[in-house]
This record gives sequence, structure tokens and C-alpha cells, in this order.
Amino acid sequence: MLDHLASTVSDSDFNWQAADAAHHLHPFSDHKSLHQGRVRIITSAEGVYLTDDVGNRILDGMAGLWCVAIGYGRQELVDAAAAQMKTLPFYNTFFKTATRPVISLAERLTAMAPGDLNHAFFACSGSEAVDTALRMARTFWITKGQPSKRVIIGREFGYHGSTTLGAAAGGMVDMHRQGAALPDFAHVMPPYWYGYGGQMSPEEFGLFAARQVEDKIREIGAENVAAFIGEPIQGAGGVIIPPETYWPEIQRICRAHDILLIADEVICGFGRTGRMFGSETFGITPDLMTLAKGITSGYIPLSAVLVGDRVADVLINDTGEFYHGFTYSGHPVACAVALANLDILESEHLAARAEASGIKLRAKLIAALGDQPIIGEIRGTGLIGAIELTADRRTRRFFEKRGRVGALCRDHCFSNNLVMRAVRDTMVFSPPLTITDAEMDDLVDRATTAIMATQADIR
Ligand code: PLP
Repeated sequence: MLDHLASTVSDSDFNWQAADAAHHLHPFSDHKSLHQGRVRIITSAEGVYLTDDVGNRILDGMAGLWCVAIGYGRQELVDAAAAQMKTLPFYNTFFKTATRPVISLAERLTAMAPGDLNHAFFACSGSEAVDTALRMARTFWITKGQPSKRVIIGREFGYHGSTTLGAAAGGMVDMHRQGAALPDFAHVMPPYWYGYGGQMSPEEFGLFAARQVEDKIREIGAENVAAFIGEPIQGAGGVIIPPETYWPEIQRICRAHDILLIADEVICGFGRTGRMFGSETFGITPDLMTLAKGITSGYIPLSAVLVGDRVADVLINDTGEFYHGFTYSGHPVACAVALANLDILESEHLAARAEASGIKLRAKLIAALGDQPIIGEIRGTGLIGAIELTADRRTRRFFEKRGRVGALCRDHCFSNNLVMRAVRDTMVFSPPLTITDAEMDDLVDRATTAIMATQADIR
């Protein structure tokens, strides 16, 4: 136990590293190896740059965890939070009550969303939104007198959060091994052309991957399947961008077999893919859509499930009480911040800007790195993208020990004050949508230094 804690939080001589090691359990971390080095302690941020406690200025190529769409330091969100805290810091939305911010946000989100997603349910995290959507899908079929329709089909490398239902729906086997493998969940291959497309064209492979869902439905029996859940672009699984043929075929299959379609837009929502929602970018009309992250640009926790008319009609008119919700569902301060965030996203046309900036950023990366032997592919849609590091660019061969080269590259990025994440040997990026041309040049310079150093290491 450290003997001088709370009163000393602002002391620069306080041993933050020791206190972190002694008392703080980090998410998704191997604690033993984490504390063999230093933990980077971030103390402030502005625009696309973070500052740490030893004065490094770090380019945040990940927008936090894919969430800080409008960049750091926007006073409008601070003002919205402060004003709401003064007027009404909290009231719940249970027991026949509501607050004005939650009503305004429900109205605004459903007006923005594609298709007939006319109802919104609020929670605090992406994982809770996914849990909610899955509970809604199963409740829908129970209410309709088809309780056997329970199975949720997800995809390998899919990520749907870290609650047990979300982790079971996702396709991360390490999470399944730690208690999150549940019955009534199934997984199919992702539409990962670079990795699994072989000799097929991307278009052929898109159809092939989608039809794995149909095969799985036939194997399980459509009478046992509740829903298919997918991220329009699989983010945490390595920015897997499906070929154009994939989503229309998925949609056809879900309709043909009467399976609900859940678009998990926790990363893709709010401009990331160059349109307000990934569903618009890929022409998806989902029955349920999960949103989080960009909804408040990460300034405060909030998430939502948007519900289409077909499901909402049943839940509203036939289910009776839906036994589900959270103390902070529709938290008024979070909703006020979300409204201010949407004002910025819309008035600064950040979705369109993401599309234009994404094109420029990929062109710059290709110009700087495209010919290097270690580069297998540079891909992206809007401002979410990936750089595949490869053992052989001609055959798209993976490195033998998957993940080692990616980790090396991530460490080089780290030493070059660039945050880029490694997923296996795929470097992924999703900077704030506000990134300027000069900041993109800076990102490309730092990424080039890191990747060239990685290439030198493995020669
Ligand atoms: N769904 C997707 C697609 C995500 O990328 C994430 C988080 O990265 C989640 C759900 C879970 O969100 P949270 O970490 O806010 O619970």
C-alpha cells in the first residue's frame, strides 16, 4: 500500500507509476508485462495531439479508442455539460419519467438515421448497447411466439464489446476462452479479402463470405436463428472492409430467412466512414443499430440502440414490460453533450470531411510507403484504415508468428509519438475527423519512420 495517495494527486513528485502498478487494473492488459515498462500517463489534449506527463506531444492516430471524432478540447461540449449539470445533473428515465435532453436526442438521432429506425433506447457503453440489441432481438421473437429463434450469428474477428453477451457475439476466441463462450451463438468467416480471399476477386469473395452466413443458417435451422450482427467495417478485428458485394448479399440472406439484421455502428457511426452511418456507406437497412463512441466523441459515456419499426411495433404493442435498462439510460448530461457534439459534426460537415481526408491520407501513405516490401495493402474508407504488414507482398503471406511484427511496429510508433494500434500484423488508424492536411503529413511521416524501422528490424 502506498502511504500518500489522494491528497497528493496534483503533486509532480508523487509516484504515479508505482501507484498505477499497485492499484490499477487496466482493461485488456497483461499486467505483469505492462508494469515491466512505464505506463504512459496522458495529462491533456488539444485537437489531434495528446500530452503526457513527461512532456511528449503525441499524435493520436486512433482518436482515443476510435471515438474522439471532433478532436480534443472543444469548449462547446464542456459548456453543454456544465449547463446541464447546473440545471439537472441527473434524473432517470424509469417509472414514467424523462428529461428534455434525452427526448431531444432520441428525436434527433432517429431523424438522422437511415431507414425506419424511429425509436432510441439509451445506455452507457457500446457493450451495453449490444446487450440491449441482442435482448431486444430475442424478446421480439419470444413475443411473436417463436422462442426457438435465439441463436445470434456473428463473425470471427468481430468485436461487439466486453459484457458476456457482447463478447459471445464477437469472434475473439481469447475472450471466449475466458468465460465468454455462450450457447446459442455462432460465428462465420469475416469478409477479409486480403487474408482469406486467395485467388478470388474481392467481388467474388464478398459473395462467398456472405454465403457462409446462409450456410450457417441452414445448418442451425432458420427457425432457431434470431439475428445476424455485424460491424459495417470490422474495426477492432483489423479494419476489415467488406467488398461491395458483401452487405447486399447479407441483407438478402437475412430477409430470405427472416433473420433480424443488427448493424453494430459503435465505431462506424457518426461520420467515421465518410457518411454519417456506416449503414449508409454500405447500403444496409438494419432492423437494429447500436451506437456509442462518436455519439459524444468520447467526452462522456453514452450509447444508444436505434430500433426499426418492425421490432419497435412488437416491443411497444405486444411485449408488455421489457425488463431491461440501466440507472444511467439517457443520462441528461451525456445527452446534452451528445446534442452539442452532433451540432459540431453537422455544422462542420465532418462526415464529408472524413471522406475527403481519407482519400488524401491514403494517397499520402501509398506515396510514402506503397513500394516497401513489408507493405501488403493500404486500405481505408473515410477516416478508418489499415496497413497490412506482410512477409511477402506478392502472395499476401502472413508472418509466421502472427502479431510479432505488428507489436514491433506499434512500439516504434509509440517511440515516435504516434498512436497507431496493431491488430495481429495489421496497423490500424482512425484519427479525429477534424485532422488537417498538415497533421496528416505529420501522421504519415511518423508512420513511415516506424514502419521503416520495423522493416529494418526483421531483415
Ligand atoms: N461494438 C463495437 C463495434 C466496438 O468497436 C466496441 C468497442 O470498441 C464495442 C461494441 C464496445 O463498446 P464499449 O467499449 O463502449 O463497451
